[in-house]
Amino acid sequence: MNLENAKAALKKYYGYDSFRPLQAEVIQAIFDKKDVLLLMPTGGGKSVCFQIPAVTMEGTCVVVSPLISLMKDQVEALRANGIRAAFLNSSLSYHEQQSVENELFHGRLDLLYTSPEKMASQEFLPLLRASKICLFAIDEAHCISSWGHDFRPEYRQLRFLKNTFPNIPVIALTATADKLTRKDIIVQAELRSPEVFIASFDRPNLSLEVKPGRKRIEQIVEFIEKRPNQPGIIYCTARKTTESLAEKLREEGINAAAYHAGLDDRTRPKVQEDFINDRTTVICATIAFGMGIDKSNVRWVIHYNLPKNIEGYYQEIGRSGRDGADADTLLFYSVQDLIMLREFIMDGEGQHRDIQLAKLERMHQYATSLICRRKILLNYFNETMLENCGNCDVCKNPPQHFDGSIVAQKALSAVSRLDEQVGTGMLVDVLRGSKSYNLLSNGYDKIKTYGAGKDIRQEDWFFYLEQLINQGLLEIAYDDHNKVKLTDGSRAVLFSGQKVELVKAETFQKRKEEEEAKTATRTKRATERERVRDELFEHLRELRLDIARQKGVPPYIVFNDATLEEMAAARPTTEADLSQISGLGEQKLREYGRAFLDAIQDFLLAKKDEGIRITGATYLETFRLYKQGASVDEIAAQRDIAPLTVFSHLAHLYEKGENVNIWAFLTKAEAQRVAEAVHDMEPPYKLMDVFNKLNEEVTYEKIRLGIAWYNKQKR
Ligand code: ADP
Ligand code: ZN
Repeated sequence: MNLENAKAALKKYYGYDSFRPLQAEVIQAIFDKKDVLLLMPTGGGKSVCFQIPAVTMEGTCVVVSPLISLMKDQVEALRANGIRAAFLNSSLSYHEQQSVENELFHGRLDLLYTSPEKMASQEFLPLLRASKICLFAIDEAHCISSWGHDFRPEYRQLRFLKNTFPNIPVIALTATADKLTRKDIIVQAELRSPEVFIASFDRPNLSLEVKPGRKRIEQIVEFIEKRPNQPGIIYCTARKTTESLAEKLREEGINAAAYHAGLDDRTRPKVQEDFINDRTTVICATIAFGMGIDKSNVRWVIHYNLPKNIEGYYQEIGRSGRDGADADTLLFYSVQDLIMLREFIMDGEGQHRDIQLAKLERMHQYATSLICRRKILLNYFNETMLENCGNCDVCKNPPQHFDGSIVAQKALSAVSRLDEQVGTGMLVDVLRGSKSYNLLSNGYDKIKTYGAGKDIRQEDWFFYLEQLINQGLLEIAYDDHNKVKLTDGSRAVLFSGQKVELVKAETFQKRKEEEEAKTATRTKRATERERVRDELFEHLRELRLDIARQKGVPPYIVFNDATLEEMAAARPTTEADLSQISGLGEQKLREYGRAFLDAIQDFLLAKKDEGIRITGATYLETFRLYKQGASVDEIAAQRDIAPLTVFSHLAHLYEKGENVNIWAFLTKAEAQRVAEAVHDMEPPYKLMDVFNKLNEEVTYEKIRLGIAWYNKQKR
């Protein structure tokens, strides 16, 4: 086996033209019979790394996966690509299991998915020994390590693989990055001098954005309305938030449902199924949602609350855009959330408390970052990024700084005069001169800085305090009712005239306005071409949904969004053009190609009838009449074009593989003459040159058709 075989298989089964980073290297290592540990983020393309060897090498690749609910989906997706796959787990009946085992034994499977329990069971071993196995793949390999976040004891038994089958390569795959787990996987699975591949954890197609957590529901509704029909997930900390939020979204006419671990056993899978099959558009969920699903067309993720750590956050936003098409993520940040999480950690079991707090702090830094957010994320995973990403809110709208010394002095002095006895809320009230009962009854209106910051809006004050905290000029005493305290740094500002630089609070406001202005002009300026593309995309999406329902599979198994987008942009009208679209392997081309081509052709013709000019449509118009049985002269008359043009359309369609009977217009012998004439000419062939070369004995129409025949033969 070599990489040429691998590349051919990638095109044949998946319709992809090239490998993603590391895929080719991993596949090569497997061809060389080496053990492999592969670390790649969700959506990076891990599956291809063992599936290509599975379809090219002799024998079956056995895949161990902990998630029974995912196996069915994965197998379905493979079968849709014409790959011989099956799964074995406790959800199958005895007879079903027998039949799959039979297939394995007779070498009729490229891939077999199974659970770790089944794999390590004594009954299964003889069958494994008796079958031809080319590769073992351990998916979610971090489950083998107690260092990982998802240790599963049954994974431990998998070490028998290398002992029993020392010559069959094993690939362990995971999206979990940390070093300890990595090393432990190698030890626990007993991999033999494995090649370790670590992919970049960057997901450039995910946009990153953080917004202050105020009026969240309003902001969410606005966000969703800008993305009609796009599936998305909203993560919330509390179960009851998921329910109340879903309720409110439904009141706004949004197709939303709630999901959390407390739902009964019938409702939970149904909510999930409805989302997978595009029947529900928005899921409001606790982080319990997502583990068992493989939906590739999630277009956005919102965090209603601040996550506990960056690992969790990254995994959750990673559930969007798995198909590689653009996806948007939005995180709401509020100090209340931060305080709540902190209290949660402090009240919890003492173990690892420091680590949890430190992780929360990193999350906090991310949420309040004033530099490129992707840099912070990647840095967290020990990757350095030199350039700004250009796809986060900070990059898109860099913060503007100003001399905030006076603002800082007011805040710090108020803290000092309040004897460091109040939290941020009261502090801002004092600065703004509020007349709340609580404030007055404490006599805080008597202090010197009362009302000194009236000119600054309340939310802007929070924004400035946040920055002062991040700069170490103030701190929150989490162990003392979250009171605001001075630091060593504060004294330099208060007493030694130390300057403080702050980011303008208007940055947020401006960001919002600019964004709105941008969307407005974008819609206005959206060219006709873009509108047509969006409209066509919607058509194709509906067709996909129809087909998926008929077949009883999730829509993204028919085609993923990226493929659909490419189709809508390129508008292929012939099979040859369609096969150029990424994501259409031979099987899908055969199975769905015609339906999608017809849909595109109908759409283009409909547009043409509306008077919108689209390239390609003129051929189709000719083709439509031709298929209705019109003669060339009739077509020419009806379309008000020359008969030779009609012939040229038919020739083009024929050359592209459409069903045009050219032999109604010329004989084989004539075509042969044309072919011989152009054989040693340089394309593009001029009709007149050929005409002269053939002593003016063959008509232009016939020459045009003859050239099409020649070109098609040559291919
Ligand atoms: P992972 O298992 O790492 O989460 P997948 O294997 O499911 O990722 O791949 C994520 C998506 O990327 C899938 O839709 C897959 O078909 C697509 N993909 C994988 N490899 C390629 C490739 N070489 N070119 C284009 N798309 C790819
Ligand atoms: Zn950035």
